[in-house]
Amino acid sequence: MALKFKNPWGKGNREFDKWFGINGTALEGAVIPIKRNITDVSLLFNPSGGALRGQDAYGNGHFGAPRSGGARKHMGIDILTIVGQDLVSPVTGKAVNYIGSSSGKPMIDITPSDSAIEIEKVRILYVNIPSEINAWSPYTVIGGKTLIGTAANLGDLGYPKDITPHIHVQVMIGGKWVDPTPYFFGP
Ligand SMILES: [Zn+2]
Repeated sequence: MALKFKNPWGKGNREFDKWFGINGTALEGAVIPIKRNITDVSLLFNPSGGALRGQDAYGNGHFGAPRSGGARKHMGIDILTIVGQDLVSPVTGKAVNYIGSSSGKPMIDITPSDSAIEIEKVRILYVNIPSEINAWSPYTVIGGKTLIGTAANLGDLGYPKDITPHIHVQVMIGGKWVDPTPYFFGP
């Protein structure tokens, strides 16, 4: 017997279409996927294990904090690091290290492989590329396990020498950068 379900993801979501088709009728024997909600659990591993950067002499590490004298907003969060420490992947998927074309900073993009995770991309800045990894060459990473690089010295990247060491983390959902905080630190 076919069952009708309310679309839990919103119209046009590819997860919904895959399981229910366009009219909301589940296929016989379909496993009903459960959307993993950020309020249920923190989905992502903290790459450094550090705390969220608070206010310091050079700014605030929270999402939406003012940047460039208020001209723009901080579109990610800053997580504290110890310079040179190993950083692990926040999620299982495919990773690519590179130097940002406009920023000139070492960074990494990670695409989760689990389609039940609503996150499309995690981007982390100030990650020195591991010596055994080539820039722009994608590789498989395991969340909480695979080394994705080491924490850069921000003083070497054009920032003030005494800025609090950190990585900058962004999370993309639906093509937009959203607040990464609950994914790492819980609701
Ligand atoms: Zn930042």
